[in-house]
Amino acid sequence: MDEVTLAIIKPDAMRRNLIGKIIGRYEEEGFRIAAMKMKKLSREEAEGFYAEHRGKSFFDELTAFLSSTPVVLMALKGENAVKRNRDIMGATNPAQAADGTIRRTYAKSIGENTIHGSDSVVSAERELGYFFSKTEIYS
Ligand code: ATP
Ligand code: MG
Repeated sequence: MDEVTLAIIKPDAMRRNLIGKIIGRYEEEGFRIAAMKMKKLSREEAEGFYAEHRGKSFFDELTAFLSSTPVVLMALKGENAVKRNRDIMGATNPAQAADGTIRRTYAKSIGENTIHGSDSVVSAERELGYFFSKTEIYS
């Protein structure tokens, strides 16, 4: 059965003109883009999005970064989409990400790691709802 997951093209990728390469990668992998928009998040929106990390040492840096430029928000649809996106993204620290993953290919540091992906079906539901109404996600 198909799942839908949230991907975010992060500011480091936006600054380096990588939108097309990243979307192209998802299309090549067989995902359908079920929703997409570009948005400049406020600091408060970034903090709410990453609420699970509040209190951690990197929280301020993380939320300042995510709200520093517009980002591309995408709902990716496909079989096993949550796990498949995590596999294609690669590990959080690009130095530890497998060859061929988006983070290994493009990311420069753990803090500015190019792409976000929901880490579970439950997270995906919350994160998609944070940015999209149900009617904006196409089947
Ligand atoms: P994302 O949620 O953005 O997809 P992730 O699920 O791989 O990333 P999380 O543990 O959710 O990783 O951390 C969220 C983000 O916080 C990471 O993408 C990274 O940029 C930053 N981060 C996580 N751990 C560290 C750390 N030890 N030092 C600096 N930044 C970190
Ligand atoms: Mg995460």
